[in-house]
Amino acid sequence: MRYPSDIYRRVEEELSFRRQSAFAMLDRRTRQIQESFPEIIKLRNQAAALGASMGKALLSGDEVLYDELNQEMVECGSRACNELVSAGFHPDYLAPPFMCAKCSDKGYAGAEGHPCECRKAILNRLAYEWLSNISNVVECSFDNFELSYYDGDNITYMEKLLLSCKRYAANFTLQSPNLLFIGPPGLGKTHLSLAIAREVVNNGRLVLYASAVQLMERLVDISFSNLQDEYKDIAYGCDLLIMDDLGTEFQTRFTKAEVYNIINTRQIEGRPTIINTNLSLQELEKAYDQRVVSRLVGHYVSNPFVGKDIRYQKRVEKIQPNARKE
Ligand SMILES: [Zn+2]
Repeated sequence: MRYPSDIYRRVEEELSFRRQSAFAMLDRRTRQIQESFPEIIKLRNQAAALGASMGKALLSGDEVLYDELNQEMVECGSRACNELVSAGFHPDYLAPPFMCAKCSDKGYAGAEGHPCECRKAILNRLAYEWLSNISNVVECSFDNFELSYYDGDNITYMEKLLLSCKRYAANFTLQSPNLLFIGPPGLGKTHLSLAIAREVVNNGRLVLYASAVQLMERLVDISFSNLQDEYKDIAYGCDLLIMDDLGTEFQTRFTKAEVYNIINTRQIEGRPTIINTNLSLQELEKAYDQRVVSRLVGHYVSNPFVGKDIRYQKRVEKIQPNARKE
């Protein structure tokens, strides 16, 4: 999988920022302890000096001295730690608080320096944010999905749907099913799919969210300019693709074929896709090749969205603030 080259630079910047923040935090904590409990810092400095002497003893081949110094260093370190705990601090309070204990926020772990999982997770999150261009809808989460905009039996139904989306996101793997969110506009399809995206990205996966319009425009550009663009790789190969508003794109023979290719390729390669559409199955059948509809019917779990247009309800509320309290 190729990622946009600019993203790699930003991953290194983020890792470097994480390390600098951890050391800056360690500095602040050290100064704080130095002021109130200077003996703890003294013991730690002694332990560090003993460590340096151990290095010299090792080089000179003096194993007896090395063992003595080692014992002294361990005692010093453990006394410092005990005093830290007696003063009410966590035993690791004077260790740099790295976000990733495996690689100390270097991005590479182990003796062979393999890329760490945290690095992959940063790469996937930055790629998602950059490629999905989600600035205006980034706030969509499960927590701010408002069930109060649904009424009657729809509340119970949407509550269940919300729960199943939460489960889907929390347990997401490449074996997860494809989902079809279907129903009229304004019922929360985009909101719930972005909430899923957010959680799956936070779990370190590569997700691409795009409206069918954006996706097709970009793929048409790539195809007709012969660009070697990573976007196409990611649309076809990311862990989870969310295609919003299928049916609103400008339809040509090329886009219809591309919609089928994406759906079919991802299906064959076992990469889950979530598709949102305002069209009914009959309308989809008219708009696309029969093969697209048969993939959606045969390989997607269909989730109808019900209720009254929430965007409309919110607009009414702005004009009549008490409209929903009746
Ligand atoms: Zn790591």
